[in-house]
Amino acid sequence: MNLVWHRADLRTHDHPALYQAAQSGPLVGLVNLDPHILEPTSPRRRAWFYANTQALREAYARRGGTLLVRYGTPWEVLPQVVAELGVQRVFAIASYTPYGLHRDHKTEQAIPGRIHWCEGNHVQPPGRLLKPDGTPYTVYTPYAKRWWGEAERLGEGLLPPGRFPALERPDLELGQVPQEPSDVPLPPPGEEAALQALEAFLRDRLPTYHQTRDRLDGQGGSRLSPYFTLGVLSPRLAVHRALHIGGEGARKWVAELAWRDFSADLLYHRPQMLHQSFDPRWDGLPWVDDPELFEAWKAGETGIALVDAAMRELNATGFMSNRARMAVAQFAVKLALLPWQKAEQHFKNRLLDGDTASNLQGWQWAGGLGVDAAPYFRVFNLERQVAQHDPEGVWLKRWLPEWGGPPVQPVIDLEAARQRYLAAAARIAKPRPPT
Ligand SMILES: Cc1cc2nc3c(=O)[nH]c(=O)nc-3n(C[C@H](O)[C@H](O)[C@H](O)COP(=O)(O)OP(=O)(O)OC[C@H]3O[C@@H](n4cnc5c(N)ncnc54)[C@H](O)[C@@H]3O)c2cc1C
Repeated sequence: MNLVWHRADLRTHDHPALYQAAQSGPLVGLVNLDPHILEPTSPRRRAWFYANTQALREAYARRGGTLLVRYGTPWEVLPQVVAELGVQRVFAIASYTPYGLHRDHKTEQAIPGRIHWCEGNHVQPPGRLLKPDGTPYTVYTPYAKRWWGEAERLGEGLLPPGRFPALERPDLELGQVPQEPSDVPLPPPGEEAALQALEAFLRDRLPTYHQTRDRLDGQGGSRLSPYFTLGVLSPRLAVHRALHIGGEGARKWVAELAWRDFSADLLYHRPQMLHQSFDPRWDGLPWVDDPELFEAWKAGETGIALVDAAMRELNATGFMSNRARMAVAQFAVKLALLPWQKAEQHFKNRLLDGDTASNLQGWQWAGGLGVDAAPYFRVFNLERQVAQHDPEGVWLKRWLPEWGGPPVQPVIDLEAARQRYLAAAARIAKPRPPT
């Protein structure tokens, strides 16, 4: 008996671990509800995880298969399941976050020699691409140049097993998928919905993606990120499908999936990014740990139109466009000087697509904390951003109906804040005298 341990790969298509397990005998699937991940997160994100776990269970059942659900610390649960079912081999898709690596190491120690790791959640798994001198990439453009070679070689992906062998164990406790209400509407869960959403995007919006991706309402993008985050949709299949269609929109879109892999690669090589700026000198900015300011930012009550509309959209939907994410993160880091770690954590837990590596990269890039070649002195003009990326103000009005009414006093003076940041940042960026 083989066990397929699903984590952030809640799908059956293009799933090398499932494919290899099915090639070598009968199998059963497992989703372990890990309190280390689920407890600290938000109800909306738990609800999204449970909905996709339920959809995966149904996908298994449609082909006669069984998906077990267990709860607990993985390195305690896996040995129990292995013993209970007489499992010979466990197949799983490798994870590269700091917690994922720790979990997998502990679990391997608990069931030595039994886990077979596969790749499947990245086009280029973290750690694979290195600079010619053997060190990790720190800048996106040269990383992406190498990444494209692999992307262009991708095929259709692996098909799910046609039929899973039935499990002759009527006594086996399958385990309940919990239900938790979400405070935001969830996208339709499951891989069938994800594959349909991918095809609709490729047909309707991919050809113009390079022109519309920066819209503040996020309608130029695919909105597939909540599916990618839980591995409900294979990024390799998505890249292959887009490149097969081709064109400028496709190349731009695939380049964004290269950012996803670049983010995972950065964090893999520098796990300290969880708490520390990529360039630790930036941790020396004069942070303002002001609870009132933080609450105003969270609630979308800063009196600054773009920031408030974006944060209210996030609170009401669990989504925000990339352009708005850049603006609210830059506002929080450079202008409000909110301790970035606190803001980044809050943000991740409100997003349905919250992803440790992409979120850290996004915050540290937008905040000018040393990721990539983003210059520290670039500070968005928030009004100009609206004029360029929501020229009719439709998105702004939707989330901020009071916009255009009597002027609201902002919580900070933007120009004074900009000057304060630039002065502090220039001191930090100043080249050090030779030692
Ligand atoms: C401050 C900040 C925080 C962010 N936090 C997250 C996060 O927690 N989770 C997350 O998935 N993305 C994050 N991003 C990246 C990006 O904003 C979202 O992936 C994108 O907005 C999702 O919308 P979409 O699916 O329509 O993207 P599309 O434009 O359709 O892009 C396709 C896919 O590429 C990936 N992608 C796109 N842009 C990026 C990027 N800059 N970095 C990494 N991957 C990217 C996503 O998987 C996305 O679904 C963040 C960006 C910033 C600036």
